[in-house]
Amino acid sequence: MSSKYVYLFSEGNGKMKALLGGKGANLAEMTSLGLPVPQGFTVTTEACTKYYDDGEVISDGIQSEIMEYIDKLEEIAGKKFGDEENPLLVSVRSGARASMPGMMDTILNLGLNERVVEVIAARSGNPRWAYDCYRRFIQMYSDVVMEVGKKFFEELIDKMKEEKKVSADTELTADDLKELAHQFRDEYKLKIGADFPEDPKEQLMGAIQAVFRSWNNPRAISYRRMNDIPGDWGTAVNVQEMVFGNLGDTSGIGVAFTRNPATGEKKLFGEFLMNAQGEDVVAGIRTPQPIAQLRDVMPGAYDEFVDICEKLEGHYHDMQDMEFTIEDTKLFMLQTRNGKRTAAAALKIACDLVDEGAISDKEAVLMIDARSLDALLHPQFDPDALAAATPIGTGLAASPGAGTGHIVFTAEDAKKRADAGEKVILVRLETSPEDIEGMAAAQGILTVRGGMTSHAAVVARGMGACCVAGCGSIKMDEENKRFELGGKIYKEGDWLSLDGTTGNIYGEAIRTMEAEIGGEFGRIMGWADKYRRLKVRTNADTPKDAAAARAFGAEGIGLTRTEHMFFEADRIPAIRDMICSETVEQREKALAILEPMQQSDFEGIYIAMEGTPVTIRFLDPPLHEFLPTDEHDIEALANTQGKTVAQIKALIASLHEFNPMMGHRGCRLAVTYPEIAAMQTRAVIKAAINVKKAHPEWDLVPEIMIPLVGEVKEFIYVKNVVVKVADELIKQTGSDLKYMVGTMLEIPRACLTADEIAQEAEFFSFGTNDLTQMTYGFSRDDAGKFLEEYYAKKILESDPFARLDQIGVGKLVEMAVKLGQGTRPNIKLGICGEHGGDPSSVEFCNRVGLHYVSCSPYRVPIARLSAAQAALKS
Ligand code: ADP
Ligand code: MG
Ligand code: MG
Repeated sequence: MSSKYVYLFSEGNGKMKALLGGKGANLAEMTSLGLPVPQGFTVTTEACTKYYDDGEVISDGIQSEIMEYIDKLEEIAGKKFGDEENPLLVSVRSGARASMPGMMDTILNLGLNERVVEVIAARSGNPRWAYDCYRRFIQMYSDVVMEVGKKFFEELIDKMKEEKKVSADTELTADDLKELAHQFRDEYKLKIGADFPEDPKEQLMGAIQAVFRSWNNPRAISYRRMNDIPGDWGTAVNVQEMVFGNLGDTSGIGVAFTRNPATGEKKLFGEFLMNAQGEDVVAGIRTPQPIAQLRDVMPGAYDEFVDICEKLEGHYHDMQDMEFTIEDTKLFMLQTRNGKRTAAAALKIACDLVDEGAISDKEAVLMIDARSLDALLHPQFDPDALAAATPIGTGLAASPGAGTGHIVFTAEDAKKRADAGEKVILVRLETSPEDIEGMAAAQGILTVRGGMTSHAAVVARGMGACCVAGCGSIKMDEENKRFELGGKIYKEGDWLSLDGTTGNIYGEAIRTMEAEIGGEFGRIMGWADKYRRLKVRTNADTPKDAAAARAFGAEGIGLTRTEHMFFEADRIPAIRDMICSETVEQREKALAILEPMQQSDFEGIYIAMEGTPVTIRFLDPPLHEFLPTDEHDIEALANTQGKTVAQIKALIASLHEFNPMMGHRGCRLAVTYPEIAAMQTRAVIKAAINVKKAHPEWDLVPEIMIPLVGEVKEFIYVKNVVVKVADELIKQTGSDLKYMVGTMLEIPRACLTADEIAQEAEFFSFGTNDLTQMTYGFSRDDAGKFLEEYYAKKILESDPFARLDQIGVGKLVEMAVKLGQGTRPNIKLGICGEHGGDPSSVEFCNRVGLHYVSCSPYRVPIARLSAAQAALKS
């Protein structure tokens, strides 16, 4: 660890993101490119980490280093902090290594106090501006540093506007704003019990500390969890000389992207607002103008900005998202970063950059966020259903995609209903960072206020959620959870559909349909396939899922859960017959009814998979899952079985287990009832022999997977049943079919004894769902109830069922790989848990040398891309 905790912008560069944060590194880089950047310095992420290590205090050493850099900045700016002649005002801005838009806090105009504001009011001859800055500073400082809560100040502003009978902030006069600033100071004193700090140095330390603290605010923690950002990175703090967009009509602020972040189109995209400061553009207080109009309003600044955009894109080889301020016609750059974009835009931009010769196909593969592809793989509106529907209103097409669901008005309701399995559309006046989890849970987001760069729009694009923003014709009644649009009232729970591609809003549910991979998506996937080492299979239980996965590029099936087929209406009676059987003969009779059904399922799956490998897992769940719970159904079952209700209830009671997940399931079923394994073997082998006859060109080798093995002798017992039945069948039919018998590694003991098991098993497939459950001792079905507390208390950063715990569960996987290869060097290795489609887990699988990952059909493209990125990074 270095002992230097502060860097001038002129001392850093764009590569120093880990130390200076993304914002700081890019401010330094822009400085070195000679762009007009207000100067300043960055307090490093290491200072933030140290702040936490030291028990949430900024050490004396770091405080004096910061003051040294204030001296240096004073020299550069030719102004002095707290000075009554020529005062220096600064912004204090957070900036982590990965961009977390709006998650942490910023304070502007720091350095103002009762005397300094008088000075700048008099010197500038613009008291309106001076007091506007002052009241904003008190408001932000109170909110961010002292956590007073914005709403008290907003109420005061609203009251003032009402009194003065004006509708826009800009109509308030210098005297109004001065009065407002004093009301704010009083409010501060009332809430905090002390005077507002006058000393700029005290203000500065308070602000820096607040930014460090904001690293751990609840919305930042939740954002990190959703985006796989480690909690120990910390944030840097940028202290920068202020420039002012609120000086009057020749000043303004704006945000812009070098290309369209929704579609990828190569055309400047953004908004600006004259006579404004800070977040005014994105806060939706006034409606901003499209960036192209800046050419007419301020031609000089516009031309310079266009030049800078080209320069930055050429420099970073990626689409840039920038913030600028025009202070009295002079342009200043305040931020640049690689812009967030929709998945569709990401694919187009990557392909365009390759075609423009700006990047290689490898770089194109690496620049796409694999998780974002999810948005493209999900259903779109059925064009016919869409054409038949009439919009009830339109807003801005802020984030593309189709969303249909029940209306909710708060983020909490969105989360609650979505957790209960409902599809919801979140309707808000405007969104704020507190709404983030509700937004993630919704199918779509609709706002009344705000533009293309409003919070709702930016966050929705990042999440791949569909969003229609700024539908001003909605008459909102949040309190009573209803709104009026197109002359009709819509209440909580009513259906609503949003088309984020056109901005249309529909007061009904509209049918959606499956997505497909073509065009730029196909090109990127082609490049990914060129560079990946891992094969990608899918988890599919039906020919339909198998075909969908094949279309997404699956190269086999890693897991077919045979029991899913048993739940279908025409099969459940037969499986219940089997469970109710009292003798082996009865059971075999029931199994004989199931056998042809399983066989035809398998034939369908083999055909859909066109000769690629197919792993079929034998019956796994505890048998009670197949029996009825409802009185009515129990009675019906008693009737068909010729038994009494009491007898059936006794049977159900006898199957009851205290811990069914660790009960009579998996290979334990086959040990008790070998005839089940025998039936499934016949179905697998006969289906394969038939399909092989029809398709001799396919190299069909069914893989039979025995679940939940913990002891090699369990495996040997079931394998013997399988081999006996299979070999006999193959011999009888004179076929030359080959097959494999392997196991799912999902019990820690199996990993610990993988060398023994590999002597018998031809393949391992890591069932990391159960393996996580058994290693952590967390029940998959109950963990959700307490994991939230674990995140809040920072015991866990992410859900171990979604993102593989590489330290613990991963150690078992690695150990099993080594042990298994020790006794069977050519053993086939894969993963079939949920983790097979999670990018960071795929990277792990690549590293430990698995041969394939298997995931749900929709995640196949994500896994293909992640596998390529893992290979390119390693
Ligand atoms: P965020 O990360 O939430 O975008 P920023 O640190 O970028 O927060 O700042 C919030 C707003 O304040 C932005 O609009 C930014 O352009 C503006 N801003 C920050 N520093 C300055 C400054 N020194 N002069 C003028 N405007 C500033
Ligand atoms: Mg910013
Ligand atoms: Mg399992």
